[in-house]
Amino acid sequence: MFERIYIEKALLENEQQQKKIQNILARFPNLPIFTIESYRDVFGKFYKPYLAKRVNLWLFLAEKKGQLVKPAPPAYGTNSGKHFYFVHAYNCLYECQYCYLQGYFNSPDIVLFLNHEEIFAEIEKIIIDHPNDELWFHAGEFSDSLALTDLSQELTELIALFKKYPQAKLELRTKSIKIKELLTLSPPN
Ligand code: SF4
Repeated sequence: MFERIYIEKALLENEQQQKKIQNILARFPNLPIFTIESYRDVFGKFYKPYLAKRVNLWLFLAEKKGQLVKPAPPAYGTNSGKHFYFVHAYNCLYECQYCYLQGYFNSPDIVLFLNHEEIFAEIEKIIIDHPNDELWFHAGEFSDSLALTDLSQELTELIALFKKYPQAKLELRTKSIKIKELLTLSPPN
């Protein structure tokens, strides 16, 4: 599906991200690669019909900036506890007709945010700051939680984080059957 790959310059200079980038590039050895300052300079700047994703999808490797973990809107999730969400990607491989992503972004192109360490540190800080609360963290507000994790490579670390804090719950909201990696991990509480 992918036609080209864009990589943010800062990611290439970050030792923590280099291994992940190499793993991704090894999956697509023949694609043209472009280095950019920020995914925002290109992503969504050109209108692409949603179903262009079948033939000429662009993949962006980027860093998530700003508030990395946000309180979820009211009525999101269950009636109890405090709810948060974090964003690990924009857009999805699938084509659910009702999916709001096709209207929300001006493009079907996929952005993977690879600075998982920073996102997870923020999750951990919230957990530590709320020792007596029931906490929920939702992955995949702007993507599917599992469909791209074989590329983005954060699942093992994410599950390891939640194993440390049994009072916190992680929701993987998915329509993907890519559970092979999950099955190799012993589950948190
Ligand atoms: S799986 Fe979810 S994110 Fe992907 S197209 Fe369907 S509704 Fe949208």
